[in-house]
Parts: sequence; structure tokens; C-alpha cells
Amino acid sequence: MSQVFPNAERQPDSGSQEFLPFCRPSIDSSDIEEVVKVLESGWITSGAKVRQLEQAISSETGCKHAIAVCSATAGMHLVLHGLGIGPGDEVLTPSLTWVSTVNLIVLAGAKPLFIDVDRDTLMCSAEMIEKSITPNTKLIVPVHYAGAPLDMDSINEVAKRHGIPVVEDAAHALGSLFRNVPVGQSGTAIYSLQAIKNVTTAEGGIICTDDDELAERLRRLRFHGLGADAFDRESHGRLPSAEVIEPGYKYNLPDMNACLGIGQLNRLSDLNAKRAGLAQMYADAFGEMDEIRPLAIPAYPHVHAWHLFIVRVITERLSITRDEFMQELKERNIGTGLHFRAVHHHKYYRERVTEDLSHLENTNWNSDRLVTLPLFPAMTDADVRRVISAVKEITTRNAK
Ligand SMILES: *Cc1c(COP(=O)(O)O)cnc(C)c1O
Repeated sequence: MSQVFPNAERQPDSGSQEFLPFCRPSIDSSDIEEVVKVLESGWITSGAKVRQLEQAISSETGCKHAIAVCSATAGMHLVLHGLGIGPGDEVLTPSLTWVSTVNLIVLAGAKPLFIDVDRDTLMCSAEMIEKSITPNTKLIVPVHYAGAPLDMDSINEVAKRHGIPVVEDAAHALGSLFRNVPVGQSGTAIYSLQAIKNVTTAEGGIICTDDDELAERLRRLRFHGLGADAFDRESHGRLPSAEVIEPGYKYNLPDMNACLGIGQLNRLSDLNAKRAGLAQMYADAFGEMDEIRPLAIPAYPHVHAWHLFIVRVITERLSITRDEFMQELKERNIGTGLHFRAVHHHKYYRERVTEDLSHLENTNWNSDRLVTLPLFPAMTDADVRRVISAVKEITTRNAK
């Protein structure tokens, strides 16, 4: 019944005015059956399904180690801990990112140093990173944005020259390729499987790394710091002899969540191709408009995962603010998102960050203009046309 699984059963819609959310997970009836099977199996927490999901991520990205955790935020926490980031250390990251990274840097007792981003791709470049490196910089966390990959060749080159590790925030990048290489294949990258991401387990994350030692440490840190990570179905759990090697956290992903990700990963290229087709319709419609400017596509060879379709509302040309523009869409039953409000604009950071942030010019400009439009694989062409005509109507009516 469409009421129960609206995304799975959604009928083509010829412009009806039902609420159109900005995203909706791609869960089908086979995914639901898998969850039921896990529930009926008697083994519902981390086990065979987690291992299968990790293997599926490894074969999708080519990464050496894939470590499933209960969120990308938890993954970032483990990596910061695993790399020993703490008081006196500085971590370079954009302010135009999700707040979780910066929160964790602060909670670790380290200092976030914000780098600006390109005005039109919202991604930082190697030059922007290099300008901000100090003797205390201990980590760089660049963000692949909206489904487009960062230029990792130049970022890795700068990081290597300065001897600073890089952890890629790949929350948006499942299915993204930089020069034919999947994000996460080398180095350390963290994917999110949270509800709005291209592949979701409701909540979840995956750390990809090619560092054997770090991988071993992360596997243990995600489960109490216990030495043996072995799951053994016969004995229903890990070996009773497993010992704490170092104090750890409890960030494991349950099998009932993991099984959802396996199904979507099998369909990932189809799902992302559907996203790309819808995104192209938006790009064609907005390409000629002065009031709406979509993000730019990186100039280097890549495959875009089209996680989000983000535009900037050019408020200089309108008599309404970005927030009013979002409200106008809401009144037309069209949902939007905001990815992201700059971290330094949030209350806690506004009140505490004392250094000069005037270099964050592109971040500030975008933070006040960004809007994420509906984009998900079950959307129809008619849905996209409905959003496009609403946007055109709003901008025409409110033109300066
Ligand atoms: C979603 C997201 C995260 C956090 O992912 P969770 O799985 O919700 O912890 C981190 N960074 C970016 C850029 C994100 O979009």
C-alpha cells in the first residue's frame, strides 16, 4: 500500500500537489524482506550482515578495509581518537560542512581551523588548505560536496609534503569517482548511511582505509576496545576470551540496519543514474536563469553521485530572502533542505570563535543563499517539472 511504503510503490504523478520532500530513501520490498529475515533469525545486532555490507563497500570502492559503524559522526570520532588528535592540535576543515566534524574536533580538545571553499563547487582546494597550515596542524578533513569528488591528487600532494594525514568526509560521495577512481579507494574516507544519503541504513557509517594498523585499531575502538573482533554464529557472539586492549566506544552497526545497505548497494549505479537524469533536467532549466544558480560541476574528470541538487538563490536580484524563498516552496508543498549553514554561523561557534574569519568570503556568501531542491530516485520527471515551475513562478513574482 502506498501509504506504508510510499517510495517503493509511488505511482508516476502528473503534477498533483501532494507534499514533495527533498529526499526519500530508496527502500524496496526486497530490502524490507531482508530486515524481516534478520529479525526472524534471532541475530539482530552486528554479525554476518555487517560483514557482508563491509565486503560490498570494499568491492564497490576498492578500499582495503571497510569498517561499519553506527554513524559517520561515530566514525569521525573513532578516527580522531585513533589518530591521537587532542589538545594543542589544529584540524583544518571547511566551515561549510555538517556540524558533526567541528563538534568532534572541539570535543577532542583540539582546535578547528576553517578553510574557505570554491564559490561554485563548495569544495576546498589544495591551495586553500596549504595557506592555512601551521606547525600545529595535525589533520585535514576536506569534504566531497553534494556528490562531486574533491581533487584528491592535489590535496594529497600538499598533505604529504607537510606530513599531515587526511581524512575525507565522504558522506555525500557513495558512487563518486575522481579520475575513474572511487572515493575511498585509497587513504581514509568516511561514508554516511544516514537516512537522507544515497545509500541508507537509517543511521550508519563506513570508514574506508588502506592503513592496516589504523583499521585494526578502529575495529577494536568501535566495540569496547576488545581485541578479537570475530563474530561467531555458533557461540552467538565474540569469543568470551576477548580482552580489552585499550578503552573503546560502542559504535557498532546492527545487522537489521546493515542488511538495508546491502540491497541498495546492489542497485547503486541504477539509483545514481536516475539521480543524474533528474539533476540534468534541473540544470537545463536553471542554466539560463539569473536568479537561481546551481553549483558548478568540477572541471576535472569525475563521476558525480548527485547526492543533492543545490542551488544558490541570488538574493541581489530578488525582493525576498533565501529563507522566504524556501517558505514559498513549502507553501506550494515542496520540501527543501539547507546544506549547509556555515558552522561558524551557529550560536556556539558565533559566540566563541575569536580569530579573524574574513577569509571565509565564499563560505559566507553561500551560507546565506544555499537551498537544496528535491532529488531522489523515485521522483518522476513531472515532479521535477513541478519544482522548476514553482521556482520560476516565485522568482518572477519576486523579481527586483
Ligand atoms: C550526513 C553528514 C555527516 C554525518 O553523517 P552521520 O551518519 O549522520 O553521522 C557528516 N558530514 C557530512 C558532510 C554530512 O552530510
